[in-house]
Amino acid sequence: MAKPDFSDFPPSFRGATFRPDDPGYAEARTIWNCLTADATPVFIAQCADTEDVVTAVRYASDRDLPFALRSGGHSMDGAGMPDGAFVVDLSQLKDIEIDPASGVVSVASGVTLGEMDTATQRHGLVVPSGTVTTTGVAGLALGGGLGFNTRRFGMTVDNTLAYDMVTVDGRRIRVSAEENAELFWGLRGAGHNLGVVTSFQFQAHKVGPQVHSGLIMYALDQAENIMTALDTHMAGASRALTVDPVLLPAPPLPGVPASLFGTPILVLVVVHTGDAATAVAELEALAALGTPVANTAGPSTWLEANSILDIIGPGGRRNYARGGYIASLTQPVSAAFVEQIGKAPSLNGPGEIAGIAIQALSGACHDFDEDSAAFSRTGATWLWEAVAGWEDPARDEEFLGFTERVLASLKPHVLSNSYVNLTAHQGEEWVRGLYGSPGKFQRLQALKAEWDPRNLLRFNKNIEPASAGTGAAG
Ligand SMILES: Cc1cc2nc3c(=O)[nH]c(=O)nc-3n(C[C@H](O)[C@H](O)[C@H](O)COP(=O)(O)OP(=O)(O)OC[C@H]3O[C@@H](n4cnc5c(N)ncnc54)[C@H](O)[C@@H]3O)c2cc1C
Repeated sequence: MAKPDFSDFPPSFRGATFRPDDPGYAEARTIWNCLTADATPVFIAQCADTEDVVTAVRYASDRDLPFALRSGGHSMDGAGMPDGAFVVDLSQLKDIEIDPASGVVSVASGVTLGEMDTATQRHGLVVPSGTVTTTGVAGLALGGGLGFNTRRFGMTVDNTLAYDMVTVDGRRIRVSAEENAELFWGLRGAGHNLGVVTSFQFQAHKVGPQVHSGLIMYALDQAENIMTALDTHMAGASRALTVDPVLLPAPPLPGVPASLFGTPILVLVVVHTGDAATAVAELEALAALGTPVANTAGPSTWLEANSILDIIGPGGRRNYARGGYIASLTQPVSAAFVEQIGKAPSLNGPGEIAGIAIQALSGACHDFDEDSAAFSRTGATWLWEAVAGWEDPARDEEFLGFTERVLASLKPHVLSNSYVNLTAHQGEEWVRGLYGSPGKFQRLQALKAEWDPRNLLRFNKNIEPASAGTGAAG
């Protein structure tokens, strides 16, 4: 079939459209990661509303045209704006509706985490999701959704009540435990592969406005012992406490001694959403696992707490990350992390990063059965990622090499299941293991065959449909 030139794109489309030579194209195609800045999508349909999504999807579907989806644009692989792709852009869909009495929150697919948090906090509510305010709700919530409330309330997928979805052939459907129940199971973890979600219905919880948060910093020679103590320590801590250990060259932040700038350190990023007395006691006990060189933990608003990591995740630079699950922060695992951070590339300023960030998957996350959703959690207590952000393309190899080395050194300890978000693609075999058991993957391939048999949604960590001869059941 001849490639469409898009001159027949329906005039009823209310949003903006961009071809490579159009004014505004450069801005429309810009996403968080500049590593793929040379990628040139052939057509961007920036939807104004759900009807536009239907129009754009039908147009692509009628022509057997694979299409990419852009919501928050934070995919590590640049999956929202791939080279040569037809892009359905949902970033302008910004509706948020909140029922303060029930805590049920409806959020359209273009909403960012910061926008959702700001709106829900007006009612003292929070949807358990992730950190870094510019991240899109859509991609995060469809892959899992890990953040400072995971230990208390579970993942975003565990707090999702329903979806409004446009199927790949352009039909609008509702997906919940009652309607399209099998698809509801699949969207909660493998949602990038199964349809175009236009809005989410979440169960929010009472959190804040005041919580406790901050950074507890230690010299690197204490890191191995502190990290190794964290499994036991967190098993005895309340679920309102979460800790993300991060190894990185000390950033020039308030509270960090100038003598440490650029030297690798351990930072415990801490958030406590419980009552003040418990928070103070638990944060003191945590800090006492070593002798901090600086400690900024104290009262803050929830909005301050959940933007604490914004400084290490700005857009507009080259970015890459490799990561996976580990069962336990054992001494060999902690030692491997500490050794690798000592070999991180030197940084040219506060806009660059080479670090290892670890997030807690314990507590309420494991109240939900492995088979309750496509998202896999079995055996995982921590998620780690080696993150790199840099400016100069001439240093690509150095920063990419750092993330590959960390991955290689962790190989003996990494679980075969993993989290689809928060790492770059790690290959087909890895995707087959992502969701846990072979049975779960086959169930997803069957769902893919039912809801996207032509694999039109392939600009993602792709699950091939069962009928494509991939060895799946069915
Ligand atoms: C700085 C930074 C911080 C992060 N922090 C966290 C964190 O704390 N916790 C966490 O869990 N994750 C985190 N992530 C990972 C994040 O969850 C993923 O990158 C996620 O995919 C981003 O979603 P998006 O909508 O912004 O991205 P996009 O690039 O728009 O989309 C990402 C993927 O989702 C698919 N997709 C997008 N919209 C839709 C839709 N409407 N329907 C169906 N599929 C769709 C796309 O095809 C693509 O494969 C972070 C990422 C970054 C870059």
